[in-house]
Amino acid sequence: MAEECIFCKIIKGEIPSQKIAETDELIAFNDIHPKAPHHYLIVPKKHLADLRNFEKEDMILGSKICALAQKISKDLGDIPFRLVISNGYDAGQRVYHMHVHFLAGRTFEE
Ligand code: 5GP
Ligand code: ZN
Repeated sequence: MAEECIFCKIIKGEIPSQKIAETDELIAFNDIHPKAPHHYLIVPKKHLADLRNFEKEDMILGSKICALAQKISKDLGDIPFRLVISNGYDAGQRVYHMHVHFLAGRTFEE
């Protein structure tokens, strides 16, 4: 856990969030500034800044995130969804605890 990390604080329950799913290793909650009717953040509980920091043993999180995204979609009636990961400031990342945006409920441009 990183001291000043917003998502670590959400994981510890020190900052409130609207949690929609949880596993041993992941948490999913509503994005505070939603860009779609369904906008969730799927977040590993382990503090990893972005994909560039993943070690070999962390890569399994990728398939677990996909499985959780599939479950969230299924719970919403197999809704189509988009997953987005930004890695680093120039890629648009602003919270430096790796997370996947789950976006659904509207039509996206290509
Ligand atoms: P990034 O730009 O790093 O990929 O995405 C960070 C996301 O975290 C943004 O979409 C932003 O709205 C969301 N966010 C930032 N602070 C909070 C917070 O305190 N609570 C929640 N639920 N989402 C947050
Ligand atoms: Zn963190």
